[in-house]
Amino acid sequence: MPTTLGYAEPLDDDFGDELFPSKIGGRPRWLDPTRPLAVDRVLCDECAKPMVLLMQLYAPEDEPADAFHRMLYVFICRNGSCHRAPASRCMRVLRSQLPEVNAVYEEKTPSDGDDRDGDCDSDVVWALAERAKPAPLCAVCGLLGNKACSGCHKRHYCSRNHQVADWDAGHRAQCSDGTAAPGSGAAHKNRQPNILYPEHIIASEEEPQDGSSDDDDDDDDNDDDSGNDVRPEDMAVVPVGGERVEDSEVEVDPAFLAFQHRIRKNPDQVIRYARSPGTGEPAEPLFVGDAGRPESGIDIPDCEQCGAARQFEFQIMPQMINYLGVDSADPVSVDWGTLLVYSCPRSCAAAPGGAAHTAEVVWRQAFSSHGIGQKYVRAFHGDDTAFTRQFESLDV
Ligand SMILES: [Zn+2]
Ligand SMILES: [Zn+2]
Ligand SMILES: [Zn+2]
Ligand SMILES: [Zn+2]
Repeated sequence: MPTTLGYAEPLDDDFGDELFPSKIGGRPRWLDPTRPLAVDRVLCDECAKPMVLLMQLYAPEDEPADAFHRMLYVFICRNGSCHRAPASRCMRVLRSQLPEVNAVYEEKTPSDGDDRDGDCDSDVVWALAERAKPAPLCAVCGLLGNKACSGCHKRHYCSRNHQVADWDAGHRAQCSDGTAAPGSGAAHKNRQPNILYPEHIIASEEEPQDGSSDDDDDDDDNDDDSGNDVRPEDMAVVPVGGERVEDSEVEVDPAFLAFQHRIRKNPDQVIRYARSPGTGEPAEPLFVGDAGRPESGIDIPDCEQCGAARQFEFQIMPQMINYLGVDSADPVSVDWGTLLVYSCPRSCAAAPGGAAHTAEVVWRQAFSSHGIGQKYVRAFHGDDTAFTRQFESLDV
């Protein structure tokens, strides 16, 4: 089964109305806005603060009917020092689903005005049902806001932590003078740059099969198209130290080389999606090395709801870090080789009356050493000729 690649793109004008977005950063957009996630599901086990949305991915399934709409949310702690702990302590993955007929969305009849693109086809257009009443959201992070400001009673928060952050970020002045808004409006945008990650759309595209692209079959000796149009935001996949590693001394892990070989044709990929439910063989992630792979059944527990062995669904690439606005010179900024997301292959539904979000599993694989991380960056950007030679002499 082919892998679908996800790329980060800037927000466009239509994005604000998108009901089922795949995106990086910003506030979560809940598949079921009447039942947003509560903060206690995403408290960091290390620092006890609320995690924030890293990304969400709309990944509907044909089967079962309960997964007609299906959204996966990945939350992480923003505090880089918490990421020295296992991923299970500082990251969470949650799955939310709705059947085609549900109480939240209803089919909208497209008006003539919606046909302006001229490409209107039989796609169903969904709208939030009038009877669906969205729950209040935290003005800071977008989780369930079940605590209201005791001064104005207008702004809601997930936690005391975010109430304090909002107070310091300007609500102190607004609370008493009557200008306070509930909080998810545009006026509040970007007031919490240190809490939310910058928002980007995730656009997806099937990964070209090896040999199927005809634009590079004649330049095997000059297969360096990844290095020639590097944009500034691509520059620091992994923090690069000032000193050069002795090129010949570093042992190179074949799995790492295979990883690099695979991504260099599409170097901007931030997601690799390769779910294969019901097809027998589960898809394999693209590991960043031989070390640090999870063991099924031990590191990746079976689904707590239905008992099925979880399967790999998608992975987050190190390139996503480029879009998070983190200071890559900071030695404790968040970092990973890849984040592997494993989910229930049955997309099982919670029991009636159960939680709206089912926990899935994320596994972090680091680059096998700091040195190889640095080499990865340089080779990736085409400025490490010794490594590139070493790389090309190996048959991967
Ligand atoms: Zn933390
Ligand atoms: Zn919050
Ligand atoms: Zn207030
Ligand atoms: Zn399950």
